[in-house]
Amino acid sequence: PLQAANDTSNFSTPRQQVLQQEDIESQIEHLLAQMSIHEKIGQLALRDWGTFGASDMKSIKQAVREGRVSGFLNVNFSAVDKNAFEELQRIAVEESPLGIPLLFGQDVIHGYETIFPIPLGQAASWNPELIRNGARIAAQEASADGIRWTFAPMIDISRDPRWGRIAETLGEDPLLTSILGVAMVEGFQTSNLADPTSLAACGKHFAGYGAAEGGRDYNSAYIPERLLRDIYLPPFKAGIDAGMQSIMSTYSTLNDVPGTGSPFLFKQILRDEWGFDGFVVSDWNAVMEMVPHGFARNARHAANLAANAGIDMEMHTDTYEKFLPQLMDEGKFSEAQLDTAVANILRVKLRLDLWNHPYPRAQSEAEREQIIRSAQFLDAAKEAAKETFVLLKNDKKVLPLKKGQTVAVIGPLAEAPHEQLGTWIYNGDKKHSRTLLPALRAMVGDEGEILYAAGLDYSRDMSTRGFKAAVKVARKADVILYVGGEESILSGEGHSRGDIRLPGAQAELVAELAKTGKPLAMVLMAGRPLQLDETLEQADAVMMAWHPGTMAGPALADVLYGETSPSGRLPLTWPVGAGQIPIYYNHLATGRPATDDNYTRIDRIGQEVFQHQPGNSSNLLDYGHKPLFPFGYGLTYSDFAYADLELSSTTLDVNGQLTVSATITNTGKRTATETAQLYVRDLVGSVSRPVRELKGFERITLAPGESQRVQFTLAASDLAFHNAQMEQVIEPGEFRVWVAPDAQSGLESGFTLR
Ligand code: BGC
Repeated sequence: PLQAANDTSNFSTPRQQVLQQEDIESQIEHLLAQMSIHEKIGQLALRDWGTFGASDMKSIKQAVREGRVSGFLNVNFSAVDKNAFEELQRIAVEESPLGIPLLFGQDVIHGYETIFPIPLGQAASWNPELIRNGARIAAQEASADGIRWTFAPMIDISRDPRWGRIAETLGEDPLLTSILGVAMVEGFQTSNLADPTSLAACGKHFAGYGAAEGGRDYNSAYIPERLLRDIYLPPFKAGIDAGMQSIMSTYSTLNDVPGTGSPFLFKQILRDEWGFDGFVVSDWNAVMEMVPHGFARNARHAANLAANAGIDMEMHTDTYEKFLPQLMDEGKFSEAQLDTAVANILRVKLRLDLWNHPYPRAQSEAEREQIIRSAQFLDAAKEAAKETFVLLKNDKKVLPLKKGQTVAVIGPLAEAPHEQLGTWIYNGDKKHSRTLLPALRAMVGDEGEILYAAGLDYSRDMSTRGFKAAVKVARKADVILYVGGEESILSGEGHSRGDIRLPGAQAELVAELAKTGKPLAMVLMAGRPLQLDETLEQADAVMMAWHPGTMAGPALADVLYGETSPSGRLPLTWPVGAGQIPIYYNHLATGRPATDDNYTRIDRIGQEVFQHQPGNSSNLLDYGHKPLFPFGYGLTYSDFAYADLELSSTTLDVNGQLTVSATITNTGKRTATETAQLYVRDLVGSVSRPVRELKGFERITLAPGESQRVQFTLAASDLAFHNAQMEQVIEPGEFRVWVAPDAQSGLESGFTLR
């Protein structure tokens, strides 16, 4: 931010006066010293058009001119006034009392115009580099339009696929979410926030939003503090350690206190324990929602609670503007507190160097076109999508498809340009989507034929009227490729489901297709794992594609035809049925451990009664306790063998480390990527410990016949957890360790921590 200070010969304008200061903290002091109470409160206001009543540009401009607005979110400028963006910024910089630039924020969640796979899909790559790169591209595009702040990464842990927002998460595991969340922060922010292509990241939602009861959005979360600290908070801590600049509060209550009114979360944990120096923003309307929560009596009380809890910036509502002056007069909120909140916000604005780069990076339509959806970005989106597909089943090696075959493409999502994009796509437009059908045709060229009949018009279509035509087409083919799942609208905010089966008449359609006796491969697009029931038996192959984004078609065609072998792994546990939820791999053992001995009798009873049910393995008589597919699971077109697990030592000192290694061999016929996972189990603790916890992972690509040793370093500090007194401890004792292809298998050994 100081680059320009030297060239400033006269310091008459506020902008120059600020830049003349030596460092950011002095710049903040310099600004604060000149600001009125009202201008300070103005810096706490994040507005959208709604706050002002739709498109009342005149009052919006006036508010900016008076220094009453800090920034705007999710502004659809073209709907109001094409030049509004620059005009508002010009007013802020040139006409507002201190010339403090506005900060424009947006939900740039998985791409801006080049849409990448939904976050849950990206997480299935287990590839931080891919995620970093995707965020970098999104930042380059968004900053071209003047956006310098994104409401991402969403690093809520969720164990409930009914919750629609699970599509936005990075899965169920704290370590995987931490590593991938940090990669996203790095991609958005770069190592230099003053770079005009950087976006300040925002970790959300603090805290516990993903534990909404029953997966019902916005609902109460109950998380014991120990679990909060071990499972839900680590990704936020990791993000902050990586320099994440802002944090958004949750809508939900956490243990009966609305997140937006929780000094425990924002003062104690975020500031006192973690030393966070960026700013906190409320979620949209969340300050006012403390009233229906029965926590605040009215808007004034809500402002008081939020401000005192440490919410620096208020999104959408204007309770701070209305009530903080009065609350300050009454001594309920001090000017020192106000200064702290303003400083937190100015610090980020200064780090972004908005004073030198207030306007959109692209200054003309031509410049914009060079950046947005460039060939290079589209190619990166395609390459990224290819790594997110998880092959769940592949009997009779139906996949990859072979050129020369006649393929019957059936299903509602093969030609659904909007549905392949997924949730949160403000600037994403279906008109740029590359769908599957033409991509398959381009892939086979003259070598084979691609037939098509949707069978169903959309994923929730209940009508069987298209079945006949679909079956007719299927009969003409060598192989059927069913492309179905969920439309975009079935996941995302406010879009939870209680029934997570294939929507509409899809299961019936697949059953009809299976009756043809033709090999049947299935591609699923969805924002969550689905309950598959008999469909899983009927399909010979199943590939989970999530919502792959703009380049879904070409990416899928590549992987379906084996140009690239699938390499995605589940970032969450895939349930047999909704009745198993919550289900997650790092659970505790019951008092009836699932050894074969213990389960013989129960299994037998279960099999007698519910023999037809898949996954029937224990004392949950219909669905069993086992998931359909475990966390970490995913097949490819080759096979891998694990051998020679070796620990550098069978003892580990409390401040030491050891290495765990194993040999992985590609025993199949194709080059493919394996993701080796390191798990541990602490056999006895002062509190019961999970049956497995992920401690590391490594992706390796091997040619047929090739072997490689993977080596993990495990430090004693990796084994720390919170005890009942909320102290982070490393407890000596016996540990099991696995190097594994998923959370339910692998090579096992053990060591003693002393
Ligand atoms: C969501 C946030 C989002 C915000 C702004 C809210 O409804 O919960 O995740 O960033 O809106 O669009």
